[in-house]
Amino acid sequence: MSERCPYCGGDIEINHDDGYGYSEYEIHQQECGNCGKSFAFTTSSVIYYHLKKADCLNDGEHSYQETITYPRRYTKLKCLQCGDEKPLPDERPYLINGEDRATSGAIGQP
Ligand SMILES: [Zn+2]
Ligand SMILES: [Zn+2]
Repeated sequence: MSERCPYCGGDIEINHDDGYGYSEYEIHQQECGNCGKSFAFTTSSVIYYHLKKADCLNDGEHSYQETITYPRRYTKLKCLQCGDEKPLPDERPYLINGEDRATSGAIGQP
């Protein structure tokens, strides 16, 4: 999502490093990488809601799926529908012993 410089019309990527520039009703400043002039901007966030069915909240089954997390021992199960999180079941002892071995495939070792 890029904006246009008010001076030269060049493409501007609003810089949000460290969360800068997100607060509303404040004037922020940035320099155009194209023409070198400084400009000011204000931010307004438009909130979109995406509503969807979550049967698991209505006596249905949760659709838990493993989160993609590194290291693996932080992997949890997250429900795709309602976002509920729960720890992985304890059937993976290799995740508890030896953090380094967890990545080298403890399954099926001799
Ligand atoms: Zn410019
Ligand atoms: Zn759920």
